[in-house]
Amino acid sequence: MSNSWQSKVRSDFPILSTKVYNRPLVYFDNAATTQKPKQVIQAITDYYEKENCNIHRGVHYLSVKATEAYEDTRSVIRDFIHARHSHEIIFTRGTTESINLVADSFGKKFLSEGDEVIISVMEHHSNFVPWQQMCLERKATLRFIPLLEDGSLDIPGFCELITEKTRLVALTHISNVLGTINPVKEIIAVAHQHGIPVLIDGAQAVAHSAVDVQELDADFYCFSGHKMYAPMGIGVLYGKEHWLEELPPYQMGGEMIRDVYFTHTTFNELPFKFEAGTPNVEGAMGLHAAIRYLREIGMDRIEACEQELLDYATRHLLGIGGLKIFGTAPHKASLISFLLDTIHPYDAGMIIDKMGVAVRTGHHCAMPLMEYLKIPGTIRASFAFYNTKEEVDRLVEAVEKAKEMLL
Ligand code: PMP
Repeated sequence: MSNSWQSKVRSDFPILSTKVYNRPLVYFDNAATTQKPKQVIQAITDYYEKENCNIHRGVHYLSVKATEAYEDTRSVIRDFIHARHSHEIIFTRGTTESINLVADSFGKKFLSEGDEVIISVMEHHSNFVPWQQMCLERKATLRFIPLLEDGSLDIPGFCELITEKTRLVALTHISNVLGTINPVKEIIAVAHQHGIPVLIDGAQAVAHSAVDVQELDADFYCFSGHKMYAPMGIGVLYGKEHWLEELPPYQMGGEMIRDVYFTHTTFNELPFKFEAGTPNVEGAMGLHAAIRYLREIGMDRIEACEQELLDYATRHLLGIGGLKIFGTAPHKASLISFLLDTIHPYDAGMIIDKMGVAVRTGHHCAMPLMEYLKIPGTIRASFAFYNTKEEVDRLVEAVEKAKEMLL
C-alpha cells in the first residue's frame, strides 16, 4: 500500500490523530468496533441539519425526504450484499438483534421437542445464547461443530451432526477470536442437500471482503453497522423472501401493522412487518455513507491491505519468545489472538494500553470457546485498512515490554 494513499485514508478518521498517554493512539480493536470516517460523521450531521423527520407516516416535505433517504439506504445495502430484493433487507439494531429476531420467530414457528439446531463452538455469545435459550424453551437440542487444532471447523464432524431432526444451522462467517474464515458456502450447500436452512453471522465479515448472499445461498445473513465504519445502533438482517414471509413478526407496535382492530391485528408486508416502532434513521444515513466510503476504496483493496498487515504482524509477533497464537487456519481475517507465556491477558493488556496501543483482552464474548481451548482469555489485536506496519511495530514493542515487566 502506498504511503500517500494511506495518509489520505488516515486523515479521513479524526480519532486516529488522537494521543493517549501522550503517545499517538494505535487502534487495534477494530473487531470490537471500527472508527468512523468524517464522511459518515458528516452524513449524520447533515441528516439532522437538513432532513430530520419521522418516516413513512407523513405526507409533508421533510417526512417524504427522510423516508426516501431511508429506503434508498435499504436498496444500497441490497446492492452491497447482492440480495435479490430490497424487502429482504430488515433494519435492526445490529447483529445481536438480527439473530434474536430469527431465533425467536423461527424457534416459535419451527422448533419443537426433540428437534436439533447446529452451531459451532467458536460462536460469539450473540449466535450462541439466543439458540441455547430457544432450544431450552422448546425442549430442542443444541449441537456444536467441533474445531481442528488450527481453529478451522471440523467439516466431517459437522456432517456427522446432521440428522433428520436438524432444523437449522447457525454459524459465524469469521470468528471474532480465531480469525478463521469459515467455508460457509460449502456448509450451506451441505445443509441445503438435507433441506436445512442456514443463518450466517456476518458481523466480522462484511467490512473485510465482498459478500454475496445469493452466491453463498445463505437463508439469513446478519451484520452490524458499527463494525463497518457506520454508527452504532444500526444493523441488518438479510433473509430470503420466502423465509421472511413465513416467519411471524418479532416485535409488535407501530409500523409493523396493516390494520388494528379491538380483537385482532393484521400485519404489514415485508420489510415493515419486522420493523416495529420509529427506526434509527440517522443510523441508516451513516450506514449509507459508510458503504459509499467502502466502495470508493474498494473491497478488494481493503482485503489485500488487511492481509498484508496480518502477515506482517503474525511474522513479527511470532518472533517474540513464549508468544502463542490461537487460530492459525490457512484462511484468516485480519485479527490475531495470542497469549504470552503464563501471563494473564488482562495484565499484559494493561501494559500494552499504557504504551498507547488499544487491544482487547478477555473472552471476547466467546466463553464456551475459551472453555473448549482451556484458556482464560486472549489478547486480541484486530486490524483495519487504516492501520500501518509502523503501528504493528508499536504493538510488538509493547508486547515485548509487557513480557519484560511481567515474566
Ligand atoms: N458476532 C460476532 C462474530 C461478533 O464479533 C460480534 C461483535 N463482537 C457480534 C456477533 C455482535 O455484534 P453486535 O454487538 O454489534 O450486535
